[in-house]
Amino acid sequence: MQYIILDLEFNSAYSKHRHKFVNEIIEFGAVKCDEQLNIIETFSELIKPQISKKLNSHVSALTHITLEELKESRNTFSHVISKFRKFLGDGVLLTWSNSDVLVLMENYRYFFGNDKLSFLKYYVNLQKYCECALGYQDKAHQLGLSACAGMLGLRFEENSLHRAYNDAELSAACFKALYHSELLEAFLYECNDDFYRRLTFKNYNICDLKDPHVEKKEMYFNCDTCGKRALRRSKWRLKNRSFRAHFRCIRCRRDFEGRIIFKQCYDHVEVIKRIAELPPKDKRRHDETAS
Ligand SMILES: [Zn+2]
Repeated sequence: MQYIILDLEFNSAYSKHRHKFVNEIIEFGAVKCDEQLNIIETFSELIKPQISKKLNSHVSALTHITLEELKESRNTFSHVISKFRKFLGDGVLLTWSNSDVLVLMENYRYFFGNDKLSFLKYYVNLQKYCECALGYQDKAHQLGLSACAGMLGLRFEENSLHRAYNDAELSAACFKALYHSELLEAFLYECNDDFYRRLTFKNYNICDLKDPHVEKKEMYFNCDTCGKRALRRSKWRLKNRSFRAHFRCIRCRRDFEGRIIFKQCYDHVEVIKRIAELPPKDKRRHDETAS
């Protein structure tokens, strides 16, 4: 089994033709690893943009890629993707979060009229894998590549990041540091129809407490000081797609706002809880009732 770790750089380009923005890929960078996760082959190609004639300032600032470099490459998307297909072969594709696969599909749809990546056999979302392998618990924030590398004590140059090849190489180093064959199996997807349905499913926050997917038994908070169960002191209200209520810990006399999000994912509901300080107005009211 070979593992191909891919990273893409892309530019948000307005297509006059389609009257919409397209994330046009401008760079492919990838490494191929053997079963011991040694890098055995590399891939790095720039693409001359066909949709937009200019680069967004944040893309040039982040990547330091210039339009001249892209033009000099004389590569088209179609040319680079066919080279990459050969590079990938029957190997497993890994990317840091699934956004690069979605962008690849978007470019496929734009240039070829079909978004199924027919050459793809197996896929792993390396970000999800690393989060699990590290026991990363922060559901509100995804684990960034440089944060992951930092946690693993891997050395890298901060200003060399955001170039496709460097990011792919660093992703491969994280993968090697966290490799467990059994754990990997749980994250390995066969790229069948279900894979595409899962990939393109848009997660959303449930905004109705009567929704059958809302687990009422999750709607409690423990005090962030003593860890004991806090008392709910108000009704639940909905704000910014999270359910919020006032809580008090009787032991610590601590008042806080408990915020809970039920995120509907493809095949499960993720429960995200956060403790915040009470809004000033409510705090005053609580202080008054307390005194
Ligand atoms: Zn407490």
